Amino acid sequence: MGEPEAGSEFAILAAAAGPMADAQYILPNDIGVSSLDCREAFRLLSPTERLYAHHLSRAAWYGGLAVLLQTSPEAPYIYALLSRLFRAQDPDQLRQHALAEGLTEEEYQAFLVYAAGIYSNMGNYKSFGDTKFVPNLPKEKLERVILGSKAAQQNPAEVRSLWQTCGELMFSLEPRLRHLGLGKEGITTYFSGDCTMEDAKLAQDFLDSQNLSAYNTRLFKDVDQDGKPRYEVRLASVLGTESALHSEMTSRLKSYEFRGNHFQVTRGDYAPILQKVVEHLEKAKAYAANSRQEQMLAQYIESFTQGSIEAHKRGSRFWIQDKGPIVESYIGFIESYRDPFGSRGEFEGFVAMVNKAMSAKFECLVASAEQLLKELPWPPAFEKDKFLSPDFTSLDVLTFSGSGIPAGINIPNYDDLRQTEGFKNVSLGNVLAVAYATQREKLTFLEEDDKDLYIRWKGPSFDVQVGLHELLGHGSGKLFVQDEKGAFNFDQETVINPETGEQIQSWYRSGETWDSKFSTIASSYEECRAESVGLYLCLNPQVLEIFGFEGADAEDVIYVNWLNMVRAGLLALEFYTPEVSSWRQAHMQARFVILRVLLEAGEGLVTVTPTTGTDGRPDARVRLDRNKIRSVGKPALERFLRRLQVLKSTGDVAGGRALYEGYAAVTDAPPECFLTLRDTVLLRKESRKLIVQPNTRLEGSEVQLLEYEASAAGLIQSFSERFPEDGPELEEILTQLATADARFWKCPSEAPSGQA
Ligand SMILES: [Zn+2]
Repeated sequence: MGEPEAGSEFAILAAAAGPMADAQYILPNDIGVSSLDCREAFRLLSPTERLYAHHLSRAAWYGGLAVLLQTSPEAPYIYALLSRLFRAQDPDQLRQHALAEGLTEEEYQAFLVYAAGIYSNMGNYKSFGDTKFVPNLPKEKLERVILGSKAAQQNPAEVRSLWQTCGELMFSLEPRLRHLGLGKEGITTYFSGDCTMEDAKLAQDFLDSQNLSAYNTRLFKDVDQDGKPRYEVRLASVLGTESALHSEMTSRLKSYEFRGNHFQVTRGDYAPILQKVVEHLEKAKAYAANSRQEQMLAQYIESFTQGSIEAHKRGSRFWIQDKGPIVESYIGFIESYRDPFGSRGEFEGFVAMVNKAMSAKFECLVASAEQLLKELPWPPAFEKDKFLSPDFTSLDVLTFSGSGIPAGINIPNYDDLRQTEGFKNVSLGNVLAVAYATQREKLTFLEEDDKDLYIRWKGPSFDVQVGLHELLGHGSGKLFVQDEKGAFNFDQETVINPETGEQIQSWYRSGETWDSKFSTIASSYEECRAESVGLYLCLNPQVLEIFGFEGADAEDVIYVNWLNMVRAGLLALEFYTPEVSSWRQAHMQARFVILRVLLEAGEGLVTVTPTTGTDGRPDARVRLDRNKIRSVGKPALERFLRRLQVLKSTGDVAGGRALYEGYAAVTDAPPECFLTLRDTVLLRKESRKLIVQPNTRLEGSEVQLLEYEASAAGLIQSFSERFPEDGPELEEILTQLATADARFWKCPSEAPSGQA
């Protein structure tokens, strides 16, 4: 499962309505574009680790192209057209031509943003929200740019043909085409156009009956001469159905009768693309750090060659066992969010690196843990007998192919493997940094005076907060337990509840866990405890020294860390649904609770004030008085943190719920009027950023990292240089694969029938 970073999840609405299209279906010209910074982590890799990372990245990028075929019928053609255009002329050269053709600067920028959006989403539907986006300029003008371009001069027939195939669909906002969906509900290429939800259910039953996974499949429906439906279940693989090579898969490739329906299992979907994936996985194998990585890659190769999900599961098993590698990766048909039926996986591949510099700081923190834990505001009896550093890795992403980049991952998704082998929980540090880095003019709800300080110290203070949150937050505190034999893990006689002054009255009985007892509030409550520990311990000079901050810098880090928390508490309102009075995101709910606690501390520590923006629309300001952090903020947080821990340690669900749900309640009560503020937060929400990724290039035996400017043009450039050896060949492959299946999306209902 991918974890979207807090703050920009489900950003569907664009900022302001453009002149051409409904704002919901365009990407705004001022959309945020950031570069993924992994230079430091890459620099610290050994030459062999770099070669391993390079070939895995190549495999990921090739495989990611399959997403074009998994999104919409026209996406592969749009990709091919744009790639041809920008290979012949870079964005600057094309600008000259576009302006000469009569486009305004804004219109040309809209085109660049559209192209960058196609590359980042690997298709013309947004990876978060699944809505279509169209170019925000007149179609006739775009046509003039394309048909008069250098690419068109070089290959007039091909460019014209690409435009004729996808130009209309690029702009169409016909209701069925506005979002992904099945049959008349929307567009998808996981199923042929005439498939309905009933077909999808039938196919799932068939797959289940044959113990076949849907993850790497697509479903195509045909009608035979007698008018009876015939279903093709097509597996993704390098090999075709007729391959002579025998494997566990070949016996499955045949015709089946299922509930009176004809099913044919075939394979070879995306074959030429997966061929290139496999070639690079083979090369990566030579640079693997250990035999687990080798065996993992061997199984992935088997999986992509044969079309076997069982082989992918075996590979995933080795992957789970490969604990804490320097170069981490995962590749395959993974997330099923975009299949309207929810069982077919979209291709993704990522390569990430342990940030050795950051890991060293985290290790220092762990080494000081015994001492720092004593600083926490609860009696020693409420602390674990021995500190166990929680399983936590922070990685910097080098490559993330597919339709979008999550900020954290928790995979594999195979439930049977999760039960028996476990899973990995990874935070993608440089993706989070992008999510939090905001241009000054888009920095909402802060005072002008605070903005520069915030921009300067956001990154460093976030590192401190993450380290404290994960290691000393989630790693601290003891649960009082009575085991099956009746023995207690605490001294009933001497341990005193600091809140009541009495002996301990409640605890966890054998079989009870934190999650089972606190159920619906467990995860957010625990995140709140970890966040609070971070805020509390960042006041400790020893902690800031570990991260390299002293004096005035240390004070700024503290201030920005606290300021960010109260701002996040306000932004959190986006993740509250008033209709059902519930929160949709554990971390954001936790931050809102902390904001409430600090507001309650009073004395002007924190204020939230509604204002009117320069655009005349509602706005708001959060202020934090930095001189009151230690005198007012710290004692308030201390009381709150102690209560959180005591209620947790003693398994006091009733007390815990009363405390937590009290603070998490969102009402329109003055002075803050949070429900009204929520509308302002939604109004001022920033649309989801585009992320520019680097390329790796093999020069001799050395791997170079190529970085690009954080702009739509930079993002386009990174894709123009992504496939230097075989760009035109790939475009040919993609359009051929799309054309071979094109008949499946000529839905009969779309034939002229009088419904305009
Ligand atoms: Zn956490």
